[in-house]
Amino acid sequence: MPSEQVERSAEKGAGSDGADAPSEQAASVYRQCASCGAPIEVRPTLAHSNGPGALWSDGYRETRDAAEPTLLGRCRVCGAIGCLLDLVEMESAPELALKGDYTFVPLTLSDYASLLESVEDIAEQFHPYLRIKYWQLSNHRRRGTDGAEPLTDVERANMVDLLGILGDEEPHRLVKAEIHRQLEQFEQAESLLTESAAPELASMTERLRRLLAERNAGIVQLFTGAPGDEIPEFVRRTEST
Ligand SMILES: [Zn+2]
Repeated sequence: MPSEQVERSAEKGAGSDGADAPSEQAASVYRQCASCGAPIEVRPTLAHSNGPGALWSDGYRETRDAAEPTLLGRCRVCGAIGCLLDLVEMESAPELALKGDYTFVPLTLSDYASLLESVEDIAEQFHPYLRIKYWQLSNHRRRGTDGAEPLTDVERANMVDLLGILGDEEPHRLVKAEIHRQLEQFEQAESLLTESAAPELASMTERLRRLLAERNAGIVQLFTGAPGDEIPEFVRRTEST
């Protein structure tokens, strides 16, 4: 699981389409729901992934385009939770699929919470991923605020668990530093940022370091996505897992 840090989640589900010029529009791929056999549409992201978007300090990527695929989601027809990687690809786009929206429904905070409590395969296989998603989704109510919202016990426990799961290699180390920062463990966070970062991660590291110097434990946008403040190329590249 190399890139949970920057894994995106589609907050808005599939939205309206048709506004863009279809210059290089790649075709959707269809997979099949393991429970009911309905098609699951996987829309191409490359055409949009360089578009504007903000990157938050917890790695949450906010895009203005709807319908970013998520690794785990719900079938729109039967509601079963599945993992894109496990679903069989359909040979051709089913006609049915062309008529409606068959993209995965993004999981909610409570979905992630119940998956984390379950003992099923998904919980086992995607443990760090689920915890990262839970962390990012529970941070949503703090985004754009002054960060006065305290962490709940459950959120705190999830973050502490994450610290135990993540390794010391980058970019996990940056994620751990960010968790320590949010937990107001500023020295521990700083100690994780002192080693020389990979050049591609230098600008992220630098911005995290600045927040630590201010003793700021809030969720902030590291990159706003505005011209001149775009998300670094490296981060965009690692998003596609
Ligand atoms: Zn289904």
